[in-house]
Amino acid sequence: MSEEARHEVAILRPQARIVPRSEHNISRAQISENALKVLYRLRNAGFQSFLVGGSVRDLLLGREPKDFDVVTNALPEQVRELFRNSRLIGRRFRLVHVRYGDEIIEVSTFRAAHHVADGEGEGHVVDGRIVRDNVYGRLDDDVWRRDLTVNALYYNIEDFSVIDYVGGLQDIKAGQIRLIGEPRTRYIEDPVRLLRVVRFAVKLGFRIEPGTEGPIEELSDLLEKIPPARLFEEVLKLFLGGYALQTFEMLRHYGLFAHLFPQTEATLAEEEGGFPHTVLIRALQDADNRLAENKPVAPSFILAALLWTPMQNLARENLARGLEEHEAIDLASDVVISRQIASTAVPRRFTCIAREIWQMQPRLTRAAKRQPGRLLSNPRFRSAYDFLLLRAAAGEDVAEAAEWWTRAQNTTEQTEPLQPAGPRKRRRTRRRRKPGGQSSKS
Ligand code: ATP
Ligand code: MG
Repeated sequence: MSEEARHEVAILRPQARIVPRSEHNISRAQISENALKVLYRLRNAGFQSFLVGGSVRDLLLGREPKDFDVVTNALPEQVRELFRNSRLIGRRFRLVHVRYGDEIIEVSTFRAAHHVADGEGEGHVVDGRIVRDNVYGRLDDDVWRRDLTVNALYYNIEDFSVIDYVGGLQDIKAGQIRLIGEPRTRYIEDPVRLLRVVRFAVKLGFRIEPGTEGPIEELSDLLEKIPPARLFEEVLKLFLGGYALQTFEMLRHYGLFAHLFPQTEATLAEEEGGFPHTVLIRALQDADNRLAENKPVAPSFILAALLWTPMQNLARENLARGLEEHEAIDLASDVVISRQIASTAVPRRFTCIAREIWQMQPRLTRAAKRQPGRLLSNPRFRSAYDFLLLRAAAGEDVAEAAEWWTRAQNTTEQTEPLQPAGPRKRRRTRRRRKPGGQSSKS
């Protein structure tokens, strides 16, 4: 049976498979206390309430969920009234956030898939794309508007069973990412799904089912239809999810990356395997390593790495035209950033920092002008220095400068004089400390 035909049958007979508590591995001990509170309070008020989406999927896989999403037949206003610590959010998608300290439990109301909602005012479709999605329904409506089968499993707080309308349990077992319904239609409806399929395939280590994989490359142009601000949110998830490197590779494989970072793609295509690729790959790998150790990763740093080569190429052209180095970089940064934000609306607070990281590079590499004190106290020093290390590690000719700055920091941060640096002679440097202190290990 074709994928399409199979889907038709599924729609005609939306029969749920209900897996009782004794036959699955989700226990309440693994669910956040706050999520349980929300589930129980809704139920005690006479509403249905379920865990849904990533949390159910991850619990079934024995992974720790990132967050817990709840779905209910209570309307957003009714949910809002049940929880003092809650607020209504969203326009395209109205829902309620219930806040407990740092943890937010997202509560949404069952929604009907757009084909049910079509033409009814609240659910809104333009060119096959969903622009508003506020037609409420029942659980067996809600399931069809979700993206992946593995994301459409419901954990029922009433009897602790798992409800599966779409074969999600089987796909979890098979390690398979599959869109619910006819893939093309679902991608056209919301092109962000192209990125979500890749993101979850990498994150879960699943393969993409052929019917879901088939149209990705051909439909990659649809990414241009996503509002740049939403695209940026998605880009953050792609590169700050702990699997940036593999995600990047897979995005390129399907021709999606070119729509997110067209300038970068152009340089990658030119210089496959050269320095630029290495800087970028190292930045992504570093980000993954840091996240694995629960260390923060700055989006601006990744952005600086993603756009480094395009910026440098332009700066080089500017230099050749006779501009001063800092002018060459400033101008190149302007151009590269304004081209980038046309496709992905990177907020200014991130582009500003990326620009500062770039601007500081020549100040760090030009030995004659090094002023450790002033640069070290620059709030952007740490990122710029990390970026320099990255370039050195990637084989750019800046290793000596990187070493120099490593020493300069150790020297100024130390309160006790450092041990003499040994026989190795360093170039003349400026002392920032009291005369007599052996501060200039650098
Ligand atoms: P994560 O672990 O990244 O939070 P998640 O599956 O919870 O994964 P969310 O982006 O938090 O992903 O979305 C919650 C749920 O909402 C999804 O599991 C899916 O059922 C549904 N969903 C989210 N985005 C879409 C979309 N673009 N199209 C259809 N359904 C979606
Ligand atoms: Mg989630």
